[in-house]
Amino acid sequence: MIDPILPTYNRVNLVFERGEGAWLFTRDGERYLDFTAGIAVNVLGHAHPHLVAALTEQAGKLWHLSNVFRIEGGERLAARLTQATFADTMFFTNSGAEALECAIKMARKYHAANGAPERYRIITFEGAFHGRTLATIAAGGNPKYMEGFGPAMDGFDQVPFGDIEAVKAAIGPRTGAILVEPVQGEGGVRALSWSQLRALRALCDETGLLLILDEVQCGVGRTGKFFAHEWAGITPDIMAVAKGIGGGFPVGACLAKEEAAKGMTAGTHGSTYGGNPLAMSVANAVLDVVLAEGFMEQVQATSARLKQKLAELKDRHPAVIAEIRGEGLLLGLRTHVPNTDLVAAMRAEGMLAPTASENVVRLLPPLNIGDAEIDAAFTRLDAACARLENAMKPEAVKGAAA
Ligand SMILES: *Cc1c(COP(=O)(O)O)cnc(C)c1O
Repeated sequence: MIDPILPTYNRVNLVFERGEGAWLFTRDGERYLDFTAGIAVNVLGHAHPHLVAALTEQAGKLWHLSNVFRIEGGERLAARLTQATFADTMFFTNSGAEALECAIKMARKYHAANGAPERYRIITFEGAFHGRTLATIAAGGNPKYMEGFGPAMDGFDQVPFGDIEAVKAAIGPRTGAILVEPVQGEGGVRALSWSQLRALRALCDETGLLLILDEVQCGVGRTGKFFAHEWAGITPDIMAVAKGIGGGFPVGACLAKEEAAKGMTAGTHGSTYGGNPLAMSVANAVLDVVLAEGFMEQVQATSARLKQKLAELKDRHPAVIAEIRGEGLLLGLRTHVPNTDLVAAMRAEGMLAPTASENVVRLLPPLNIGDAEIDAAFTRLDAACARLENAMKPEAVKGAAA
């Protein structure tokens, strides 16, 4: 008999009752160190007092309003985000995929407004993940996510990740934009080099393409800058944001420069829920914390400490850990064992983390963890690796150590 919830997820049989910071608690009081953080969503951990206060205060006043009315919280959030980023304007959504949908529509509309509607094609990259709607599975190009869902939406040309020559070769008269994640999350925690990102920007400038960045996972402080592209010293024309921006409340946004947004006039796009007062109150509260003086420096310092611990872990367990990769607190452990085995062993030791492609285990802690959580993570990872080594043939462990 089918589960009353559509069985599209293989769910872990754990029921959490509450969370506090980087910790999740089951009903029988077991606690888990949460380095999944709702897949890079809970940037301030669980039940952050400032977010709880913002949400509960707004809940007593006004939850939802149609976008046919002015929404003060949204105006405030947009003003703050334009101030803190490259963007002049933005559209609020409820998810990352919707932010990407808006970005794709905006890029097409831009060229149409310039009298070149044939420039609707967008260059994307292998290993990309942009969401699960029909347009975003076509953009991501992962056959696993497309199979059986009919003809793929037209308009995406995929090239190997980071291959600038392949991008050049793929640009034709119908190309209108390049869409890329500065750091791929699902794709295996793979970062573009900042020089590659600069090369893509230069290529867009030369050929009149729009540069669309998907910072749904790597944005909002995850790499130690507010947005990852800041490391490269470039700006996109359009950027999709979600996950961390709501700190756990469903919020997304499509940010853009004025020029790129010029086709998106009244009536061209919409959302019933996007940017409603409840969502905006929480997103503004997230910004209160992440835009505060010193927050990004703190993330960078935390990242450096965690990376150092992970290097020690790799030295201690060469039969399990093959490589440490990633930026800021978007980190990955590529493993010699199946990544799902390490995730299961970590769970047995009281720590949660998601997998990614290329046999990687992702570590996506809340951005505000401290030394106690880093130490707890090391202890649990160390024990999980030891568990896996104990289950291996002794020669395999010794061989890797030699
Ligand atoms: C999660 C994610 C998305 C999709 O976001 P949803 O909120 O699940 O629709 C898009 N792009 C990237 C890079 C993501 O990590």
